[in-house]
Order: sequence, then structure tokens, then C-alpha cells
Amino acid sequence: MEKRESGVEAMGVQRKVRMTEEKRQTDGKKTDIKSMTLQELKEEMAAGGKKAFRAAQMYEWMHVKLARNFDEMTNLSKAFREDCKAKYAYTALRAVRVQESKLDGTRKFLFELPDGNVVESVWMKYKHGNSVCISSQVGCRMGCRFCASTLDGLERNLAPSEMLDQVYAITLLTGERVSNVVVMGIGEPLDNYDNLLVFLKMLTDENGLHISQRNVTVSTCGLVPEMRRLADEKMQITLALSLHAVTDEKRRKIMPIANRYQISELMDTCGYYFARTGRRITFEYSLAAGVNDSEEDAMGLVRLAKPLHCHINLIPVNPVKECDFSRTRLSQVKAFQNILEKNEINGTIRREMGRDIDGACGQLRRKNMSGLRDIGGNEAC
Ligand code: SAH
Repeated sequence: MEKRESGVEAMGVQRKVRMTEEKRQTDGKKTDIKSMTLQELKEEMAAGGKKAFRAAQMYEWMHVKLARNFDEMTNLSKAFREDCKAKYAYTALRAVRVQESKLDGTRKFLFELPDGNVVESVWMKYKHGNSVCISSQVGCRMGCRFCASTLDGLERNLAPSEMLDQVYAITLLTGERVSNVVVMGIGEPLDNYDNLLVFLKMLTDENGLHISQRNVTVSTCGLVPEMRRLADEKMQITLALSLHAVTDEKRRKIMPIANRYQISELMDTCGYYFARTGRRITFEYSLAAGVNDSEEDAMGLVRLAKPLHCHINLIPVNPVKECDFSRTRLSQVKAFQNILEKNEINGTIRREMGRDIDGACGQLRRKNMSGLRDIGGNEAC
């Protein structure tokens, strides 16, 4: 835990440097063209003496037509495509595992990144549209005690292109439009702030897939300075705070980040986010038996949620082999929810999608790391 804390401390200055390098150089010295905004691409084309309309053409191929390589960009000359191949890295993900739930059609994808690392993404079909849950980092350094994604620490940040590509690959593989994106997979999105922001802007850009900002949710364990920065962007995305405990003492026991930021600070920051964006915060609250599921906990949650008019997502903890938590019985989850409702707080019990496939985030990646491969899938996207 000491080590993790100092890791979080060390983020600051170094991160900025690393981000820029990652964004630009995912493949040796080549520039990561899919992480460039349209404006950056225009500047890049102009600097290379290319015609301005090339940037718009290429942006459309990458972010609307979802081309998997330069060769699919058939209205660009062969010479130009060869030139691009020499100069730019073109991110493409390979689905190395696909698990499909027999219960509800949820699909979990294990994607291989250009450097061989793998991340998970989940596709869920709802009445109101298709939702994709994406990863923002390879691994995580936040150390939450119940989470499988953090067990091996952080490997690296994902580039904007690698976050976009999870959405693109799933669109291609399912043949269906994605209408909602939640950044709730592996990683702490606000620990990869700069890349996340580029990703959010490109995902919702009218020149790309143009997913409505209101249909995008970013979940955080509560990095206060980055939550404030995001608020100042005044985007219309939903911010979800993983609260999981209503006292600092209890929260510190399950989330090391609570040593850094107190609940009172988090609540102020949530208020700031609402004031800047007009968007209500969601609290995520994973219920673990005997840990945070008492009546007293529920009343504590009411007190925190009320002034902010928060919506609460109740998630019965998904047991992870290496972690010592078991889930709260459904009857008790319902009783917990009743307390919220009686006090006029809206609490939804998260519908468990894909219970029959490795549910908890990070489990499929870990299974793959330990060589336990189970279901096929080998499509390049
Ligand atoms: N780093 C982000 C995204 C993490 S995953 C965050 O902390 O919000 C999304 C949600 O799932 C978080 O609320 C996380 O705390 C929760 N979660 C992770 N592992 C879980 C598990 N085994 N059971 C229940 N919820 C879990």
C-alpha cells in the first residue's frame, strides 16, 4: 500500500511527458495517426505539403468508415497510402477471446493491442441501444481491494486510438451501432487524463462516430484534481464516482485512494462538477457482505447523496478469487435499496449482464495472462 500511495503521488509532472510520447509513438518512432484530432491531422497534412482535403478524407476513413488499415482507404492513391504506412502507426486491435453470455447476449472481448498487451471490453445490448464498456489502461495502480484489474499494478496507459478502437472493433464485429460508452473497464480513466480527454473529444466529435456526450459515462475512484479539470471542460458526459463506503475510515480499508482524498473533499468536488456542467453525478456503490451493506451504511449514503441529488448504482460485489469479499445477498441488497428509496434517493440495482462469463472487470485479462484460454475468437479489427 505504501508503494501504491507513492505511485499515486508521483503522477504529476512525469505523466505529461509520458502521455505525449505514448500518443505519438505507439509503434517505434511512427506517429499514432488515429490519436490525432481532425485539427491536428489538418496541420500534419499541411506540414507535409499535402492538400487540406486529405485530412478530412482520412479522418472519415479512420473514424466514420472504421477502416482497419491504410489499404482500405481506396480513394487515396496507392503512393499516398504507402507514404502513410512508412510514416504513421495505424492502431488496430485483434480480438483474441470473445465470450458470449447465453443469458443475455452480453459479449466480453479480450483485445490484443499492437504491443501484445491485452485489455477487456464488454458489449451489452439494452432496449435503448448498445452499450460498450471500455478499458482506459493496461492494469491499474489504484489498488481497490475487491478489484481484479489492479492485482498486478499498472502496465501502461492506453492511447486515445486504443480507447477508440475498442468501440470501433466492437462496431465492426457486431455489425451494430454503439450508442452508449462507459469508461468502466480496466484502469482508472482519470489517471490517464490527457489521453482520456482526447478520446472523449474524438468519440463525440461530429466528424467521427458522433456519440452523444450525454451517452458517455466516465467512472473514477475519485481523483479530485482531475475531476475538477474535467468539470472545467464543461462537457455533457456523466461522471460516476466509485464511493463504496460512507466514512473515510471504512473507505480507506477498501480503497487506498481514500488516504489521499477525504469524502468531504469528494463531495465538494461532485458539487463543483454539477455546478460547472449541470450534470448530476452517479455514485457507484459495490455491496460486500458485512463490509458496507448495513442499515447505517445506507443512511450514510442517503446523507451524502441528498444534497447532490445523486443517482446511486448498487452493484453486488463480484467475487474475485484473490480478494476476500463476498457478495451481499439479494434480499439485503433490496432492503438497502428500500432505505434509499424511502429517503427519496434513487438507487438502481445494477442488472448483472453476462453473469455466466467472467463478470468482474479484469478477470478475463488475468485468465489470459495465466494461460487459461477458454473460448475462441481471432479476428483482426
Ligand atoms: N477506476 C474506475 C473504473 C473501475 S471499474 C473506478 O474506480 O470507478 C467500474 C466499477 O466497478 C467501479 O465502481 C469499481 O469500483 C467496481 N468494481 C471493480 N471490481 C468490482 C467487483 N469485483 N465487484 C463489484 N464492483 C467492482
